[in-house]
Amino acid sequence: MKNVVLDGARLSASVGAGFVTRRMLREIRIAYDASPRGTRYPGGAKAAACISVDFDVTESHRYGPNRAGTEKLLELSQRYEVPLTWAICGKTAVEDMDSYHRILDSPVSQEIGIHTYSHMDALKSGPTEFEEDITKCLDALDMRSAPRTFVFPWNRENHFEVLCKLGFKTYRGKERVIGPPDHSNGLWNERPVYYVDQKSFGAESLIMKYVDLCSRTSAVFHLWTHPWSIVMEGDPNPMLKTLDPVFSHLREMNRRGVLALCTMGEIADHFDSIMASRSMVPPESN
Ligand SMILES: [Zn+2]
Repeated sequence: MKNVVLDGARLSASVGAGFVTRRMLREIRIAYDASPRGTRYPGGAKAAACISVDFDVTESHRYGPNRAGTEKLLELSQRYEVPLTWAICGKTAVEDMDSYHRILDSPVSQEIGIHTYSHMDALKSGPTEFEEDITKCLDALDMRSAPRTFVFPWNRENHFEVLCKLGFKTYRGKERVIGPPDHSNGLWNERPVYYVDQKSFGAESLIMKYVDLCSRTSAVFHLWTHPWSIVMEGDPNPMLKTLDPVFSHLREMNRRGVLALCTMGEIADHFDSIMASRSMVPPESN
């Protein structure tokens, strides 16, 4: 269980002391992977931020919260011009086309990624079944080819050969890591740093410390959430008190040229083009 007060105190003490150790990060269950010297992100920024949102309803009582949360996240995205990466579960989009179309109609760049059609567990399905479910999702969303970004339901990773075959470029791995994108399993793993749900209420200063730590270490600050997980007792407004200052901070760091605000696909494209310009194949770390 996440303990934001304790995590915040530990992180604050370390940042205050002028350095953050791997051991301290391990204690708060996050790894550190140093970025190679000279790592740059889109626009030449030293670090980047992306926010991925799993648009899925797996329990019927979450339809209302999914709709309300989607609306609020789009409002924040628009107010601070922060692009979002949506991992769309096809069945949820079909059952709530209005919310899906609100994402498509946003004036701010919103990337559409895939989260399977039926919220399929990749560890409990075979490769053919998994591929068919993703293809069904692409058909439901009227996509002719696979988009760049995939997010595994429950972050249960498997069947990477299917994702490569379909043309995906990036995914969000399970393990929390402060570091650059990691090319593994044939795709860029844009590793998560922080998950926002109702337990994050009041954690804005902790989240902003993660933003600052990622900025200082040339890492990707990757925050992820679900629309329904920012809704408290039917109301998305309380969590706005936490999320609004975070989005504002991201905008300010971007204005100062420190942080590129990107979708997952944009970060993957950036690193793919660096590799192509060096005529290198991406390094496989595992
Ligand atoms: Zn999901």
